[in-house]
Amino acid sequence: MLHTAETQVPRARFPVIDFHTHITGGSADGSRIRFNLDPATCLAVMDRRNIRTMVDVTGSYDAANREAITRLQQAHPGRFFVFVEPAYSRMSDPGYPAFQAEQVEAAHKAGARGLKVLKNLGLVVRDNSSNQLIRVDDHRFDPMWEAAGALNMPVAIHSSDPEAFFLPIDRFNERWEELRAHPNWSFYGKDFPGNRELQEARRNVMRRHPRTQFVCLHVADSEDLPYVSECLDSHPNMHVDIAARIGELGRQPRSSRRFFDRYQDRILFGTDASAGPATPQQTFGDALYEIYYRFLETEDEYFDYAPAPVPPQGRWRIYGIGLPESILRKVYAGNAARLIGVSG
Ligand SMILES: [Zn+2]
Repeated sequence: MLHTAETQVPRARFPVIDFHTHITGGSADGSRIRFNLDPATCLAVMDRRNIRTMVDVTGSYDAANREAITRLQQAHPGRFFVFVEPAYSRMSDPGYPAFQAEQVEAAHKAGARGLKVLKNLGLVVRDNSSNQLIRVDDHRFDPMWEAAGALNMPVAIHSSDPEAFFLPIDRFNERWEELRAHPNWSFYGKDFPGNRELQEARRNVMRRHPRTQFVCLHVADSEDLPYVSECLDSHPNMHVDIAARIGELGRQPRSSRRFFDRYQDRILFGTDASAGPATPQQTFGDALYEIYYRFLETEDEYFDYAPAPVPPQGRWRIYGIGLPESILRKVYAGNAARLIGVSG
């Protein structure tokens, strides 16, 4: 029965770079690229919603990566950027560390603008012989992180996941419905590291590679802004994106507003946009962007964080944080442009 204002924000106030989208995905051996979203459909939504560029982070590697670069980045200059991913299938080969650094260099030559590391690292990828999970700070990746830094390729890194995914799936879990819909998102028990252990492993990587710029996706750990702030304070090479976490940021609007004030030069706009109705908080389309703009630009109260009949990440609603224009410009595009190396 609450009577509240509803502000329509069909276009962002300033042109946007969506730093985190999944237009493509690759086969495990890097030979083929798969398009989840059709570039022409993307461009139509982009023009309507004032999105200047989409960054396709899951650009696979090798031939698949080159194909994504050709069909997105080169076919539509300035509208799409493609990142490269590590070749984990070669992880157990003796020459892997140098090979992986060379892969990143070759991808850069072919046009890749950054490196993407999925949460697989730390939670899925295992050593062939021991079957142990590979740690995020495994030294075999050191040359890869250094190569990315030397080539000014930002690293988009997703480690860990919402804290509720590390807790039992029972009636006390605030994401019970989401975990019931996606049971493979649960990392409770078995031999999975805990949330904080994953976070600290990523922190080791940022500490060891100070010249490499890291964008910790999904606000690094959106439920714990004090911890994220502590990390940002101790690692000047750390940044965050807000993809698929306005549900978290928007339920703590006063803390979020202060967070944006303080770290306005290190927060990037991203949505995690991908295809399909299974995850409404990231389903690419007009409705998704309108909600993000409403959260960032207005002080509207108590609205849905995803275009869905039932809030998909937990049954709560959010509050806009009404950012001033100076911060909006940086978050919408300026910070991403600086990291990728294009004009703001
Ligand atoms: Zn993503």
